[in-house]
Amino acid sequence: MIEALWLLLPVAAASGWLTAKRSGSGSEGSDPEAPSDYYQGISFLLNDEEDKAIDVFLRVVEIDDDTAETHLALGSLFRQRGEVQRAIRLHKDICDRVDLRKKKRDEARLELARDYFAAGLHDWAERNFTQLIDENVFVGPCYEGLIAIHERGSEWQGAIDAAQQSQKLTGTNHGTTIAQYHCEIATKALAHGDVETALQELDAALGQDVCSVRAWVMRAEMARERGDHRAAVRDYEKVISLDDEIVPEVARPLMDSLSASGDEGALRAYIAKLRTKSNSYTMISTASGLLENLEDPRSARRFFKEQLLRRPSLQGLQHWARMEMDSSSASSRKQISVIVNMLDRVMENRPSHACRQCNFKGRLLYWQCPSCHNWDSIRPILGVEGE
Ligand SMILES: [Zn+2]
Repeated sequence: MIEALWLLLPVAAASGWLTAKRSGSGSEGSDPEAPSDYYQGISFLLNDEEDKAIDVFLRVVEIDDDTAETHLALGSLFRQRGEVQRAIRLHKDICDRVDLRKKKRDEARLELARDYFAAGLHDWAERNFTQLIDENVFVGPCYEGLIAIHERGSEWQGAIDAAQQSQKLTGTNHGTTIAQYHCEIATKALAHGDVETALQELDAALGQDVCSVRAWVMRAEMARERGDHRAAVRDYEKVISLDDEIVPEVARPLMDSLSASGDEGALRAYIAKLRTKSNSYTMISTASGLLENLEDPRSARRFFKEQLLRRPSLQGLQHWARMEMDSSSASSRKQISVIVNMLDRVMENRPSHACRQCNFKGRLLYWQCPSCHNWDSIRPILGVEGE
């Protein structure tokens, strides 16, 4: 809460001085006597009672056109810190001050709508955002608020409508997120077995954003589902061309489809291409599994070791130790099992995915980050501790 005090302390000092001056407590030519509230605030501050200090300083600082900015900044700070009720009180106070400039009161109305949203009062938030839009005030931020409300309620068509309206009125391009909403509707349709609607929605998603990784992944999964493995391979290759970091996520189904397509030449050519570069752990473990059938176990192990040396990872080391244990004599196996057990413990419950925006970590690829709510920001963790 120390940030709030940085905002308040100088304003409280100036305000306290002015209050004292106005009330005539200081004689001409000498400093006015500082009000007792201000000293009480300082006293709370010195005793590490920051919350009480803030309350006192807020009482000292009158809301006027000069201090409204500080109050608005404080309100946002309260909301960010989860003190939503405090933020609502503060923003309501500013909204009610008819003597303030309209712009400041409108800013407070926008912040109040955001407070309601943060408090989970979505109906109230929606009403406030809509009123501001109707008055042509803060149209862009208000549409952002409405879109977020639809997202939280999984009202995807509502989110599309709001995003398109925002695009029309503000010129902001929402194509990439509209594509995500179409993918959400497609996912829902698939859950009900409605393949036709799902395909239409994916086409609509690509119409909004031809580089939508998620839409191409879903197309590839649907092609696999109907047994069209050549189409699946094409779509997975498109996915990889769009974002190299997604490779560990699609490596297994891609290699499985390559194998299931029955085109052994294409599969061999793909593995030959892999040999020329460094690959993620999932890709090399899947490819070495296929090489066991395509060639023989020794060839598969050689491929795996070459690739592991090129791109070392804990997962790769764990896999390699298991392979060594399986092909070792009984005495060596006991020694290697110590390493395997140790690596198992190191790898246990280790997150495999992270958000590129907020660094949220988990074991699944969510298309919308559960923490920061950004779309398409989660990817497999790369490097020694990941892929
Ligand atoms: Zn995030």
